[in-house]
Amino acid sequence: MLVLVTGGAGYIGSHTCVLLQEAGHEVLVFDNLSNSHPEVFNRITQISGQPVAFSEGDIRDKAALERVFNQFDIDAVIHFAGLKVVGESISEPLRYYQNNVEGSLNLFDVMAANGCKKLVFSSSANVYGDPDSFPIKEDFPLSTFNPYGQSKLMIENILKDVGRADPDWEISLLRYFNPVGAHPSGLIGEDPNGIPNNLMPYVAQVALGRLPQLNVFGGDYPTIDGTGVRDYIHVMDLADGHLKALSALNKKHGCEVYNLGTGKGYSVLQVVEAFAQASGRDIPYQIVDRRSGDIAISYADPTRSQEKLGWRAQSGLAQMVEDHWRWQSENPDGFE
Ligand code: NAD
Ligand code: UDP
Repeated sequence: MLVLVTGGAGYIGSHTCVLLQEAGHEVLVFDNLSNSHPEVFNRITQISGQPVAFSEGDIRDKAALERVFNQFDIDAVIHFAGLKVVGESISEPLRYYQNNVEGSLNLFDVMAANGCKKLVFSSSANVYGDPDSFPIKEDFPLSTFNPYGQSKLMIENILKDVGRADPDWEISLLRYFNPVGAHPSGLIGEDPNGIPNNLMPYVAQVALGRLPQLNVFGGDYPTIDGTGVRDYIHVMDLADGHLKALSALNKKHGCEVYNLGTGKGYSVLQVVEAFAQASGRDIPYQIVDRRSGDIAISYADPTRSQEKLGWRAQSGLAQMVEDHWRWQSENPDGFE
């Protein structure tokens, strides 16, 4: 199968490209490199032994998408391309809606016009807002507090409508919990621009000595140690979820939603402790005020993905931090 991977140069996309190639699929990456580096393609090739076809372009540029679909006979699309920083989305909502929603509309339109109706879409646990109970199931009420989450929810709703209007579409909406870790080779991993916003890359920078200490956002949540609890999932497990979701697409599929999480939550301090052990480094931290918009607890009920996709996360927290640290310590400047 020839799979178009939008955003395939990014963190989750690059790991998914490796697994797609290893599974015998042909991969074509479409990415504007706004949050990624072209060195990632050499690294993917080093791992899989296969070159990566790459078309540099922006999903907001419909003509560029049309050219790609005219040139290649694309069987399916995995759509990762998007902006993902919650805080940035609050200060720049228009940029987020244009990039994520308008770009996605272009993509779906060009797919439909070319008869390509198999799609796996990157959604987020952000669409559950602040749930009343745990673990979080796919049929929980949806709400979100920020433009990033809104953009994901809008795209989900658009795709549900598209699936209802035209039964030829085969769509999986994958709601990721907290992706961390890296390919076990240490050749590819998360390479954020500037100071990281997310916990694991921030902790890794502290372990490297590039940032002085971690600010733990809130020590008074109703959790095991007062710090926020999340469902961290190894990026290789997440990538595998995309392969399983792609294989599960079929003529009677419609639009389906799946959680991709482990089902287990860890607190910030548990992550810090695991990272200190894996790296053998001190992780100095201080507890500061809660970060605006954060929720106390989030972890998935992955039963549906297990039953319907035959997918289950394999790696625990120790493996996640070990692989994350290998990538970060062997590539302190990321792909530069
Ligand atoms: P990433 O930033 O590493 O990868 C996204 C890629 O998309 C980048 O290579 C970027 O250059 C590209 N891109 C962005 N806008 C584009 C555009 N307009 N046209 C073409 N390419 C564009 O992010 P990631 O962590 O790999 O996330 C991938 C997807 O998963 C995103 O849609 C994100 O919202 C979603 N997601 C991520 C997380 C997470 O914590 N990493 C959690 C839930 C959902
Ligand atoms: N967090 C923290 N310090 C940081 C970054 C994150 O204490 O510098 C906490 C955050 O409050 C949350 C958890 O770590 O409880 C995961 O945060 P992240 O931003 O990685 O993911 P998200 O909030 O999107 O789930």
